[in-house]
Amino acid sequence: MHNQLNKMQALPAFSVDERLDRLNALQKAIQNNKQAIIKAISSDYGHRASSETLLAEVLVNLEDIKHTIKHLPDWVKADKWTADWKFWPSRCAIEPEAKGVVGIMAPWNYPFNLVAGPLTAAIAAGNRVMIKPSEVTPKTAQFIKTLLAEVFSEDEVHVVLGDVDIADEFSRLPFDHLLFTGSTRVGKIIMRNAAENLTPVTLELGGKSPVLIDRDYSLDKAAKSIAKGKWFNAGQTCIAPDYVLIEADRVRPLIDALKKHTIDAYPSIDRNNDDFSCVVNNRHFDRLQGLLKQLPQEQIIALYPDYQSQGNRMAPVIVNQPDQQSELMQEEIFGPILPIVAVDDLSEAIDYINRGDKPLTLYLFSNKRQTIRRVKQHTSSGSLAVNETLVHFAQQRLPFGGIGASGMGSYHGYQGFVTMSHMKSIYYQSRLNGNDLVRAPFTKIKKKLINWMS
Ligand code: NAD
Repeated sequence: MHNQLNKMQALPAFSVDERLDRLNALQKAIQNNKQAIIKAISSDYGHRASSETLLAEVLVNLEDIKHTIKHLPDWVKADKWTADWKFWPSRCAIEPEAKGVVGIMAPWNYPFNLVAGPLTAAIAAGNRVMIKPSEVTPKTAQFIKTLLAEVFSEDEVHVVLGDVDIADEFSRLPFDHLLFTGSTRVGKIIMRNAAENLTPVTLELGGKSPVLIDRDYSLDKAAKSIAKGKWFNAGQTCIAPDYVLIEADRVRPLIDALKKHTIDAYPSIDRNNDDFSCVVNNRHFDRLQGLLKQLPQEQIIALYPDYQSQGNRMAPVIVNQPDQQSELMQEEIFGPILPIVAVDDLSEAIDYINRGDKPLTLYLFSNKRQTIRRVKQHTSSGSLAVNETLVHFAQQRLPFGGIGASGMGSYHGYQGFVTMSHMKSIYYQSRLNGNDLVRAPFTKIKKKLINWMS
């Protein structure tokens, strides 16, 4: 691995034409392999809804590449200006420069998207790339390696396959930038490893993304959006609504509305329904069942009470007012379990959120400007999504990233280009150089001038 990195670091950055050429080729490869992407991910999961894969791992990435190709000629332009009058007529510029070789480490929940997205940004900025896909989705990892070999040479984009030991070794390489997507726990290890080489990191992490429903907001509309966002990919989404905060007298009506919209979307969740995805593997299935086993039975509301477990297909469950100290409320759920937490009012809801880590996304359902302003001012999160779940991820012009325990740095669209570039400052001294007027020896007249300027 290290030799490969050395070799790639010795090679030049991509020209703008090469970047556009590779991005066009990547776009075509994704377009021509939609079914293969669906198949690879589904075989890793046992079953992944094909429409979810098309939306989250094909459409989002194709739009991202299209947006990047369209705007790249503007993004690469230097920003130039004439210096401040004291330095006149010298000039300044900021020129984006490729960082070198970027490392990308991806998780298993959107195993294609979270390779292709950072890759698009890295190539746009002119970098060569080494990728470590997740070992939890090995068929997709192998597929990614084969697909990218059709678009890039081994020295342009190099895919490394392997388990956690290989991931650890990968994160210790002296990359020029490392973008990691995964858990907060592993993010800390990655940052420690990267620090040895002073490799700059972007950490796209997880955590609990709360939902807050304001008193005035239609429960029917909120429940529809929450059900869509939570059950998508069986809750295995970094920005999935983790739990809902709502006033106590609205808990029951909310549960009823959630039931209705869940059954509308998924009349059944057994094997015949292509639309509902499995939990990725036995380990995660058992982890989720373990979270439920610790709770008092009366809190658990099975939305499909007659469903008999089929492999890793886990039926959606609502948990009515679990204890804040329960493991369910302490760790990121990352599965089809939705806790509802009763609060007295907006202030208590804000305090509840602020007692936890800063979330990746905070969802707010409210039509009141005043409430929206208050939540914006009194909470901190990677992103705030008002009256809708998930789709903020697909906005090319919105930087995507966390804050505090949910991550550092961001990407998508122009922000991805900036993250993967070194924004180099350049100063051009003019032939006429006024600096001599403020250079030693400091004669009386120069001193007067400096005094006047200071
Ligand atoms: P993970 O942290 O277990 O693994 C992510 C990557 O780290 C994998 O490539 C894996 O090979 C590697 N890895 C695992 N253990 C390692 C170790 N000890 N040393 C070095 N590398 C190691 O995460 P996961 O279970 O694959 O993914 C789920 C997590 O990712 C959730 O917390 C989720 O919220 C988060 N996530 C975040 C985003 C985002 O954009 N912010 C997107 C998707 C998922």
